[in-house]
Amino acid sequence: MKRYSAFAIAREAFRQHRGWTHAWASPEPRAAYDVVIVGAGGHGLATAYYLGRNFGITNVAVIEKGWLGGGNTGRNTTIIRSNYLQDPSAALYEKARSLFETLSQDLNYNIMFSPRGVMMLAQTEHEKRGYLRTERANALQGVETRFISPAEVRKLVPIINLAGPRYPVLGALWQPRAGTARHDAVAWGYARACSAMGMHIIEQCAVTGVETAGGQVSAVNTTKGTIGCKKLGIVVAGHSGALADMAGFRLPVESVALQALVSEPIKPCMDVVVMANTVHGYMSQSDKGEMVIGGGADGFNNYTQRGSWHHIEETVRALVETFPMISRLRMLRQWGGIVDMTGDRSPIISKTPLGNCFINCGWGTGGFKATPGSGWAMAELIARGEPGPLAAEFSMTRFREGHFIDESVAAGVAH
Ligand SMILES: Cc1cc2nc3c(=O)[nH]c(=O)nc-3n(C[C@H](O)[C@H](O)[C@H](O)COP(=O)(O)OP(=O)(O)OC[C@H]3O[C@@H](n4cnc5c(N)ncnc54)[C@H](O)[C@@H]3O)c2cc1C
Repeated sequence: MKRYSAFAIAREAFRQHRGWTHAWASPEPRAAYDVVIVGAGGHGLATAYYLGRNFGITNVAVIEKGWLGGGNTGRNTTIIRSNYLQDPSAALYEKARSLFETLSQDLNYNIMFSPRGVMMLAQTEHEKRGYLRTERANALQGVETRFISPAEVRKLVPIINLAGPRYPVLGALWQPRAGTARHDAVAWGYARACSAMGMHIIEQCAVTGVETAGGQVSAVNTTKGTIGCKKLGIVVAGHSGALADMAGFRLPVESVALQALVSEPIKPCMDVVVMANTVHGYMSQSDKGEMVIGGGADGFNNYTQRGSWHHIEETVRALVETFPMISRLRMLRQWGGIVDMTGDRSPIISKTPLGNCFINCGWGTGGFKATPGSGWAMAELIARGEPGPLAAEFSMTRFREGHFIDESVAAGVAH
């Protein structure tokens, strides 16, 4: 792998950029690998990366049915925060957020992490009490958050309408080192680093079946043939139920489309992320100037990666009352991604009924922010066969045992 640096850019400028090589290789699959990971989204690629970096396991294939990062990784609104209520979630999301701080340097790839600050508006007394509780929980967990007054909200976001026709802004939960990153660069950076370690990233290759013998996975059937494996990691977000079905077990997840939209680009007007969960909408401004707007999840299970009119109407109505100046903006595009929701709105990083098969799913509407931490925890689980401290509470059996990690407030509307 050629290192990217200011010197490399200067050198290539002098030779008409003829020296750049592909960021990652596109090999044909081998007959078998030590570890096969299904799904080349951010989480699957991060799992492969930390398997190599933390455990020296590099005979790994990441199999992707479409193009790398083309699932939810390339469709999300890029919000990164760790202000969750429950201890296991705060630990996992804060681990991820702290890894984001140095990820560009670690991967030698600019993932454009922008710790610009995220605020979650309190617009009812109930919501305010909830955020004050989270602020105190975060203080005990070592997560830096602060409940700020309406005057401080106005100072940080001059374009906001504090009086709101329906719900006035009563304050906000503010996390100053939260922010955004370039979503597909996260996938590309991990892919490049995995490829440099000799791992195979196999795109345009769908897994169509899982072969088992004696309670263990022996191979996966794919559109490019059968590929043997000693261990299997399933990291396919909205398609987790379908993969679990192939492997012969059931998961407590539902798949729904979650939607988002962006406006035409405008001059810089807001340099933090604002989430308005009571009226149901959130917004940030991309480096190109587009307002990136998060919408809602469909109220019914489906696999359509499309947007719909009623979500535009609902989301834009919420945001126009919060930021009246956006009422004249034109919308550029709208899309959907299939997210995998659990009943307690917390993820699953778990062993499965098959001895050498592990699953990472259930990130629902908010898994982008967890990408490095999720990969770190999943790599540990695959390498050791047992969950480490980060994943210990996120077993799929918790739903049977009643050990829910209830994040319906931190992760219901907010992403
Ligand atoms: C509109 C929207 C907004 C969001 N906003 C945020 C946000 O602001 N902040 C946040 O933290 N999270 C957000 N999320 C959630 C976040 O995008 C996801 O939780 C996260 O990206 C999941 O990553 P992943 O790698 O697990 O999944 P994905 O990126 O979906 O990767 C899974 C991959 O598996 C592949 N796959 C599926 N089936 C097969 C098969 N049979 N064979 C081979 N490959 C297969 C898919 O093609 C896909 O590429 C949002 C999601 C959406 C849809």
